Amino acid sequence: METRDVKAYPKFTKAMKATHTILIPNMAVLHFRLIKAALEKAGYRVEILGNCGSQVAQLGLKYVHNDTCYPALLVIGQFLDALNSGKYDLDHTALLISQTGGGCRASNYIHLLRKALVKAGYPQIPVASLNFSGLEKDSGFQLSLPLLCQVVACIFYGDLLMALQNQTRPYEDKKGDTEALTEHWIRTISGWIMQNKGYSAHEMKHAFKRIVAQYAAIPVTRVPKVKVGIVGEIYVKYSPLGNNGLEEFLASEDCEVNLPGLMGFVQYCIFNMGQTIRLYGGAHAEILGSEALLSWLDSIEKELCAAMKAGGYHAPARFKELEKLPKGIIGLGAKMGEGWLLTAEMIELVQSGYENIVCAQPFGCLPNHIVGKGMINKIRALYPTANITPIDYDPSATRVNQENRIKLMLAVAKERLNDRAKAKEPLLRLTAEDLGGGMPMLNHTAAGL
Ligand code: SF4
Repeated sequence: METRDVKAYPKFTKAMKATHTILIPNMAVLHFRLIKAALEKAGYRVEILGNCGSQVAQLGLKYVHNDTCYPALLVIGQFLDALNSGKYDLDHTALLISQTGGGCRASNYIHLLRKALVKAGYPQIPVASLNFSGLEKDSGFQLSLPLLCQVVACIFYGDLLMALQNQTRPYEDKKGDTEALTEHWIRTISGWIMQNKGYSAHEMKHAFKRIVAQYAAIPVTRVPKVKVGIVGEIYVKYSPLGNNGLEEFLASEDCEVNLPGLMGFVQYCIFNMGQTIRLYGGAHAEILGSEALLSWLDSIEKELCAAMKAGGYHAPARFKELEKLPKGIIGLGAKMGEGWLLTAEMIELVQSGYENIVCAQPFGCLPNHIVGKGMINKIRALYPTANITPIDYDPSATRVNQENRIKLMLAVAKERLNDRAKAKEPLLRLTAEDLGGGMPMLNHTAAGL
């Protein structure tokens, strides 16, 4: 096969903003739909990819070395599958891939993708980088300050909608109510972004309350259900393509799912900028910068959590609180992959009643096997009720095997739930009517959850 010098890769130029459609791999479904609006507002033409199927992984395997971590393999396979589809004008198509800027391989996927494009016969396709670390400075795709603020808002809104949906949908009286409301808010927030509003800290704080109040008004019957947290490497944790529709599978098993928010990962990346200087030396200004940024994000996160609590929902721990949880278990210097954050998320889930946890681990991901699977025994020793199962995701793992392993974990969870329910007979059911027809409050203690 003819190969070309991959160093001479085509750049995404400023002019391409008007001429090219940028394809984006899907990850956190709700968040990415909102981010699409922010990119369109900034003048980019974008499409979030939804193609899936076994050919995606097969293409990844064909054009990327087979010891590459599974998320990279899938993302690259999904891009190639889209380009092969004949749906796109190949002279006016570009790709967008994220670079974390950390020490892990995620910063280098972009080079693997460029190499794969040349090998697959698409050397003309430019690849742009989405990063917060100043990488690829010569690219025509840059995050301006307004765009950056809008992306931050989209992540906060995405986290809120995801959490509210997950805590409401399993209990709704009329199937479809929650999803319809989520669709409404995705459209509304996208509309705000297009009108250049709704993304300042002040506007978000007001919006959080309105959103929570509408979810809390959905008629529900709160009965005890198995509560399952999902943690893991960022891509397989969120992406239905990466985790074989894990969230939907758990919903079909009648579970309430808790997926810790994407903003936690963003804050973790910012925290690491300061932590690197603290550990290895460097410009003190970077520590101050990261602390200032974290404190601004915390002021918004505080309002988000307060709005959730006021609506009777379980609010996740703020990043500031997460930072304290791994003390004595893993150091804050463990910052490859999802690092100490993954361990902290497992502890937080167990502490807040989501003691059943799926830890999604991709093939080839050494860091997350250490901070995920490697920490499970330690967490179990500290929290004996922790019911954690690590699940490996790779091109050869079958969905049936993964689901069977999760079912074993759920069997233990269901048994415990039944034991607790028996101990608390008669079962208490809370409905909007029980609460005087007003806003149905989610009271986990009263509902025996
Ligand atoms: S965290 Fe794991 S999956 Fe992600 S780039 Fe690093 S090794 Fe790969």
